[in-house]
Amino acid sequence: MRYRHSTAQSAEYLRLAVKRMTQQQAALHPVSYAVWYQYVAGLNPLLQAEVDGLLQDNRRLDDENVYALYDRHIAELDAATALRIGDSVGQLVDQVSESAAQAGHEASRFGNTLERWSDTLNEPVSAGGEIASDVADILRGTRNMQNAISTLQTRLEESRRETQQLRQEVARAREEALIDGLTGLSNRKGFDLALTTCLEQAAPDVPGPCLLMIDLDNFKRLNDGLGHVFGDRVLSSIGQILRANVKGKDTAARYGGEEFAVILPQTPRGGAIGLAEALRALVAASRVRRVGDEGPLIGNITVSIGVADYLAGESATDFVNRADRALYLAKTQGRNRVILAPRPQPAAGRQADPLPR
Ligand code: GH3
Ligand code: MG
Ligand code: MG
Repeated sequence: MRYRHSTAQSAEYLRLAVKRMTQQQAALHPVSYAVWYQYVAGLNPLLQAEVDGLLQDNRRLDDENVYALYDRHIAELDAATALRIGDSVGQLVDQVSESAAQAGHEASRFGNTLERWSDTLNEPVSAGGEIASDVADILRGTRNMQNAISTLQTRLEESRRETQQLRQEVARAREEALIDGLTGLSNRKGFDLALTTCLEQAAPDVPGPCLLMIDLDNFKRLNDGLGHVFGDRVLSSIGQILRANVKGKDTAARYGGEEFAVILPQTPRGGAIGLAEALRALVAASRVRRVGDEGPLIGNITVSIGVADYLAGESATDFVNRADRALYLAKTQGRNRVILAPRPQPAAGRQADPLPR
């Protein structure tokens, strides 16, 4: 991204960023500076919210936090910038190509006219050799210009192909950077982006959005008893179930470790609870093979799900936290269940919304 601050302004941000950096555990390297510069300059609300969340727990940011923040909130912006630049260069090359093609076409027409003219002047009855030789010179010049334009066109065509290829590579790299390798779902970065877009597009007259937070039950026990390789197979099978059942505008993501999330941009809470219940039942009925294609099938895999329906004006962090609290309730109430996040208490004297279950 391009920073447009004046020297005085950036010096003030430098002072503030250094002050913040020295209070943390992370070393004072450029990645750390980039994070804190964006933070103190107020350039990146998502980064700010996440840093504030981390600091609220009285934690000091270490190198791991800082690199994760950079990857999630700054590197991604740079990929978006690269894509935008690719677009602009592509458009420019297209325009120049078009002008060159037009110029080539004109030169060719002019050349043909001159050629016809030259033939006429070269006939024995024509007016004289001098004019014919002048025309021949102009004709040679025109043909040279035509050749130069045609070379330019070929080069532009090559540039256009290269730019297109580059754009595709940046787009592919960007997509890959948003996918979790084990499950094929969106990763945390993809989730953050999808949620930001979803909340930007939320409208009061459209139902939703809703959010599901899904966590495997007693996964540590399963990992400890049957091994991490089997644990990974379970995660990948949850990925399959989510990919098969979450489609269209909806986004399924691996939020972290053994936690998943589903964003439902235009789904009312009844629909969200229905989907959560269906996903819960599918996981509970699933069986995962322990090893290879012939090992024993293991069942009894369950998930707990917290569902939140969006409150107008709520921040992404608050929305996620409410779904997370509902997930926590599902755990404390016995696991393998779906719980809808309660809405905030209405003012005294007014009646609460009845929950739909
Ligand atoms: P709860 O029902 O309360 O969620 O209990 P839990 O055991 O699932 O929760 P806890 O947070 O105690 O443990 C989560 C476990 O998930 C710990 C870790 O071993 C496992 N885990 C996290 N990420 C991965 C992963 O990528 N692969 C594997 N195999 N296990 C993972
Ligand atoms: Mg768990
Ligand atoms: Mg967990």
